[in-house]
Amino acid sequence: MLVQRTPKSFWGFAESRKLHGIVTLNALGRSSMTISCRVLMIYPKFVPNSFWNYTEACELVGAKYPAAPLGLITVAAMLPKHWDIRLVNRNTEPLTDADLDWADLVMIGGMLNQQPDAIYLIGLAHQRSKPVCVGGPDVSSSPHLYADADFLVIGEAEQVIEHFIAAWESGERQGVFIAEKFKIDVTRSPMPRYDLMKFDHYLFIGVQYSRGCPFTCEFCDIIELYGRVPRTKTNDQILAELQALYDNGYRGHVDFVDDNFIGNKKNLRTLLPRLKAWQEERDYPFEFSTEASINIADDSELLQAMRDANFFAVFVGIESPDPETLAQMKKKQNTRRNIAECIHKIYSYGMFVTAGFIVGFDTEKASMGQAMIDLIEEASIPVCMIGLLYALPGTQLTRRLAKEGRLHDGHDLMKVEQAGDQCTLGCNFDTKRPLRDILADYKDVLEQVYSPTAYAGRLSRLAAMLDRSDRRRELPEGDVRKRLGGIDSIHKIMRALPEAREPFWKTFVEVAKTNPGALRYIVMLMALYMHFGPFSKRVISEIDRRIAELDGMPPARVAAG
Ligand code: SF4
Repeated sequence: MLVQRTPKSFWGFAESRKLHGIVTLNALGRSSMTISCRVLMIYPKFVPNSFWNYTEACELVGAKYPAAPLGLITVAAMLPKHWDIRLVNRNTEPLTDADLDWADLVMIGGMLNQQPDAIYLIGLAHQRSKPVCVGGPDVSSSPHLYADADFLVIGEAEQVIEHFIAAWESGERQGVFIAEKFKIDVTRSPMPRYDLMKFDHYLFIGVQYSRGCPFTCEFCDIIELYGRVPRTKTNDQILAELQALYDNGYRGHVDFVDDNFIGNKKNLRTLLPRLKAWQEERDYPFEFSTEASINIADDSELLQAMRDANFFAVFVGIESPDPETLAQMKKKQNTRRNIAECIHKIYSYGMFVTAGFIVGFDTEKASMGQAMIDLIEEASIPVCMIGLLYALPGTQLTRRLAKEGRLHDGHDLMKVEQAGDQCTLGCNFDTKRPLRDILADYKDVLEQVYSPTAYAGRLSRLAAMLDRSDRRRELPEGDVRKRLGGIDSIHKIMRALPEAREPFWKTFVEVAKTNPGALRYIVMLMALYMHFGPFSKRVISEIDRRIAELDGMPPARVAAG
């Protein structure tokens, strides 16, 4: 751990802080000063026009945003008990002047897609003379972009937060706290402060079982931030976290936000039977989703254990249909296997798959676009996150491109006016294949994969394979997704998607007849199309604009909606 500190800054809060001091008597009856601190934790806005902002589906069930800020409530649990903490999520609620005026200290944490708002918030807090502490994955990857903050926590907070607290309590008002990489024992990570969260704002709530992934994918920042030796919490610890969620009244979708849920299979095998028993005892209050590598399909026992514990969805990184490209990106676990068969096997355990695909690798051939479409159709994966390759800060890919002199200036800076994600902002480097060809292929893949007919067709084929025969059909009371069950929701989805109405109704009626146990998930995925349909059109317009720019033509008008 390296701590760089500078003397007290000009903020002068050492004085005002004393106003909140609480005089207590210790065991010997001597008075001592407990320094209180009012902390405003702010979760920055995600960039608009991102694949992950499926707020249309959230609105359908009365929620405001898909995911909740798990990182900040975990850090909140590490702060002294006598500190007063409030949480404002800018994606779900307004941040007011009164919120900022109340605070002694502002803490901000987020990811790359929150960078523009995080940087804006530092300035906003400073305008109101509030010191700011920043942390989280983007700060850890690109600390230089956050140099205006008063305190930087770089790396996993558990290791350095005590030093930050000590510095703050001793009156220091600037500092950089750097955690030694991958050294955190997550079994000592505290229970997240779920009490700070407004559950009804979210479509799902996250828990974290493990950090890190054993694989070596060249483009991945997870292994740079959390290492290649997956560290897991104890079974008791994760069950206590779920119990806390349960006791706070939460019911419904819980996402294991792990980088790779099956990264440490040995430990996971001991957790899953206990998770099943815990669920059974409480009549299945939660349905789980997670992210895992494709080799999950090699392990029938593990798939069965996940089915028994009530998992319903898994995100899998497939990336490319081309074995040579997979080898080049060091994603060897995806080679020498029939990807579509692996996906179908996961379906047979009652879990649907959403998948990641990337366009823009050096070894891609002209035929890649059609091969990607064919694979998505054959595997029958309705929701595919198809992005352009984006060199993330601190990755093997970024280091290689820098060495080859191919990295663009400002590759790690997400500008406010760009307002997008890797779907519109990649490739942030000089490509090997002509960029125009890559963009044209990418556009073609999006057009075909997100056409309403193709999407509905994949839903039908997924439903035919999704074995939900031994699962309970009813969701627990309090699960917001119950609101999707009524015919009203179906009508709302159809009204919102006139161009998808015919194929979606056909699929709905067919699944209702042939596999009613899968119907809820098919309707969920139809609701998600309320975002992905219009989103893919916006991305296609932006790609058209980039192609026209490369062709030296005047940029085309970007279509609305
Ligand atoms: S499998 Fe996923 S988490 Fe693991 S290294 Fe590859 S991209 Fe990263």
